[in-house]
Formats: sequence, C-alpha cells, structure tokens
Amino acid sequence: MLILAFCSVVLTSGLLIFTFYNSFTGQVKSELRNKAIFLEKSLNLESNQVEYMKKLDLSNTELRITLVGIDGTVLYDNTANIAAIENHNDREEIKEARTDGVGEGNRISETIGKETYYYALRLKDSVVLRVSKSTSSIYGVFVGVLPQSIVISFVIFLACLLIAKSLTKKIVDPINRFDFDKNNDTYDELSPFIRTITSQKKQIGNALDEITKKSAVIEAISGSMKEGLILTDKDGVVLSANQSALNILNIKDKPIGKNILELTRIVTVLNAMKLALIGQNSDMVMPASGKTYHVFFSGVDKGALILFLDVTEKAKAEKMRREFTANVSHELKTPLTTISGFAELMSKGMVQPEDVTDVSKKVKSESDRLIVLIEDIMRLSELDETEGQRVYGQFDLTKVVFEVTESLKPTADEVMLTFELPIEKHIVTANKQMIYEMLYNLIHNAIKYNKPGGKISVALTNTNEDVKISVSDNGIGIDKKHHDRIFERFYRVDKSRSKKIGGTGLGLSIVKHIAAYHDGNVSIQSEINKGTEITVSLPILTN
Ligand code: ADP
Repeated sequence: MLILAFCSVVLTSGLLIFTFYNSFTGQVKSELRNKAIFLEKSLNLESNQVEYMKKLDLSNTELRITLVGIDGTVLYDNTANIAAIENHNDREEIKEARTDGVGEGNRISETIGKETYYYALRLKDSVVLRVSKSTSSIYGVFVGVLPQSIVISFVIFLACLLIAKSLTKKIVDPINRFDFDKNNDTYDELSPFIRTITSQKKQIGNALDEITKKSAVIEAISGSMKEGLILTDKDGVVLSANQSALNILNIKDKPIGKNILELTRIVTVLNAMKLALIGQNSDMVMPASGKTYHVFFSGVDKGALILFLDVTEKAKAEKMRREFTANVSHELKTPLTTISGFAELMSKGMVQPEDVTDVSKKVKSESDRLIVLIEDIMRLSELDETEGQRVYGQFDLTKVVFEVTESLKPTADEVMLTFELPIEKHIVTANKQMIYEMLYNLIHNAIKYNKPGGKISVALTNTNEDVKISVSDNGIGIDKKHHDRIFERFYRVDKSRSKKIGGTGLGLSIVKHIAAYHDGNVSIQSEINKGTEITVSLPILTN
C-alpha cells in the first residue's frame, strides 16, 4: 500500500506539473504574441519608435520590451541600460524575425530555475521588436511544489500505515484466533483456506500417528535386539542407536544428534566408519565389553549402518578347537615317539635278548595308552556330534553303578579300596550307555586319585526336580584353584601322575559333556588331602 501510495503521489504530481506547465507556457506565449502585435501596430504608425517607447514608460511591467536595430544594436530596452547590452543579431528569435517577419525562442537558466520566452516581430523599417517574459522553469515549478508534495506524501504515508494496520488486523486476527478443532465464525473468504488446512491437518495427524506407531515398533525391535545397531546420516551424526550398541561401545551420553566420531575412541571403528560414509563396506572382529563382536559397516542411502553381532561363543569354540587340535597332536606324539624309539632300537638289534620282554611291555603299555587316548578323543567328538539328538531309555541307576564298580573292582582291589554303594532302586529315563561311561570315569578317577586303603562312595538322591549322582572319595583331593579348569579337555592337576596311571585328561570332559547331553550340570567339592566329591545333577529323569 505504501509503495502504491508513494508511486501515485509521485506520478500524479509529475503529471500535474507537466500538464499545468504546458498550459501555462502556452498562455505565456499567446500573451507575448498578442502584446507584441499590439505594440507592432502602434509602432508601425510612429515615425520615431524609440521615442514612442520611451514615452510609453513601460519600466514597471512584467514584460521586457526591446527594440533591436538593423545592425543588432539594442535601440530600446525597458528593463536595462541599452549601453551595457551586447549586440543582439546572433539571437535565434531576432534572426528568424529578420528573415521570416516573426521569430520565437526560449532559454532556460538552470541556476535560477527560470525560463524566458521571446517573441520577435520585424517592424516596417527593419527594426525588430522583441517582447519577452520570464517564468519558472519546469524544474523551478517542481522545486516549488516539493515541500507541499512531501507534506502530502507524509500524510498519505500515515493514512496508509493506519489503514494497512487496521486492514491487516481485520484479516489476520480471525486467522490467529482460529481453532481448527472448533467451528469458528470467520469471514467467507477464509473458508476455502480453512477447509484445505483442516483436511491437511487431518492427513498430517494420521500420517504422524502412523509414523509414531512405526517408529515405536522399530524402537521396540531394535531395543530388544541383543545385536548392536547404529544408524548415522551422511556426516556420521547418529540418527538411531539401540541400547546394545551403546553398551558394546560403552557410550554413556545420549548419542542421538552427536557425531559417531565424538562418541567412541576406538580407532578401528572410526576408520571403518569413515570408509562406510564414502560407500565402502567393511567388517571386522573386535573385542568389546568382555565379549567378541563381528562388526559390519555398511554405507546406506545418505548415511551408514553399523551392526554388532555377538560371536563370543563362536570365537570361544574356535579357540577351543584350535587348542584341542594342538593338544591332541601333542598327546599323540608322546607315546608314538616312545613306541617309534623302541621299535628303532629293536630293529637295529640294540636291545639285549633279556630286555626284549621289558621293551615289549613298554611298547604295549604305550600302545594301550594311545588306544585309550584315541578312544576318548573319538568319544568326545561323538558326543559333540550327538548334541540335540536324545536317545533315552528307562533303567535302574543303582544297577549301572554296580556294573561299573564290578568292572573296576580288580583295579580298586590293587590298592585295597572299599566301596559304599546305594541299595535302593533308582529308575531313571536317560541314555544308559552314557550314564555308564560317566559313572565309569568318575569312579575310575576316585580309584586313580585315591590313597591305599581309601574309600569310595556313590550316592543317588532324588528330588522333585532332578536326580543327583555323587561320587566321593577320601583321596588326594584337588586344590581349589584347579576346580574351574579340571573339566577342560586335557587339563590335569598333576600331569606326570595322571600319565603314569594312564590318564588322558579327557575323563571329566566326557562327564561334563554327558551331563550337558541330559541338560544337567556337574559340580565339584574337593579339599587337598581330604578327598573329592563330584556331583552330577540330571533334571527330571526320575520315574
Ligand atoms: P585324567 O584322565 O587325567 O584322570 P580327568 O579329566 O578324568 O583326566 O581328570 C582331570 C584331572 O582332575 C586329573 O588329571 C586329576 O588331576 C583331577 N582329578 C579328577 N578326579 C579326581 C579325584 N577324584 N581326586 C583327585 N583328583 C582328581
């Protein structure tokens, strides 16, 4: 409105000035012409024109009247001293009057803002009569009306300001007060706008509800995932991170909106992240928070994704397998080296005939050890493979205990050991062969690591939840520091003693496997020089 008002004022003023100025100058010119013609008529009747003019005494008029002689000298001027006036023959209007009888001209003085109009007529004796009048130039007129224009503009400006304010208020107030949830009264022009906004509001509300639901679902899924998940934008700023990811990277601060580079100092993660942000996928295995993770870095559309998979068990299993292979090789190598050594001696005839029996016995015992070792290894790998398949049958546990002790009796008798065995029947549902093996290993250990004249007892207890099989002895016992490790493959407390008595270091490992096969567990109580009690708990196997 202000711009419009300002333009209107400027244009109207300009146009008015121009129009008035044109009509005004037209009037000035016609006045000059009429007065000149009057004077011409009078002067043409006079013989002495200069004298006549002097007599008229026109010094107080607005007009300037000049008579110019044939040579250009000024003969008369009612406003100036003719002696000081220069030759006028070069003036346009004079030249025109001399040739055409009539001449017109105008000259502008920018400095004083005046414009002078001239009208010249040639008199009968070639003297030229010139009448002129000065008026304000258009510039002068403009400067003259400028103060009024400014005042008017200011008044219009104020009026515009007030009108614009009140109009805007009238338009905007109902919009500001409008409550889209109620039916408000507004002016008609607003109705289509309100209809559109109301329908869009509804659509936005529905879309927002859906997005909120979806994001809640995603949050619930990612929150309950044990895998860590981080999503960043193209600059590495975290858009989403689940709790597992924060735990894995040990991030305590709120991560959303922060750059991943600020959140973790793990150099390998940062490097892989930088690559993912430029679209290069990578993965690596790294330890974090006491576990092992396989981490995948992928560049996704306008960002990057980090996924942490817990591979602790897999890594542990791989480590165990590697250790097992190394141990097996080592265990097999020792007896084989001995056998090979003796065989070489014999082949070279370096064994005295009287020593042959002894050497053969040693070869036999080493071979037996090898066979036992290989049997145990094979048994363990069989147990590894049977994971998941359960082959159960019903049998009396007490009977199995008796079968085992019967077969081990000769060994026990050698060191005068006595047994204390259960009497009552204990019918269970389990894998009989495995339970036999388990009892065999436990009772055999109780014999091997006992003292002469010692005691071995086997106890069977039923509870509502499980059956407990305990094998205890009052032998050499095991120091507490070994309790956690004796179930590991090839772990022996006293390697040389175990080897001497034909141990492989695999017996308790097999026991643990068999317990696990039955979803049970093994525990140990032992004190050095006092004895050992190993208890196997097998759940819900009683009948
Ligand atoms: P091994 O074939 O050497 O007996 P095991 O796995 O059966 O292997 O036992 C592992 C180790 O645990 C043995 O070497 C021994 O040192 C110890 N051990 C097992 N049972 C007993 C026990 N009843 N008394 C004392 N030490 C035992």
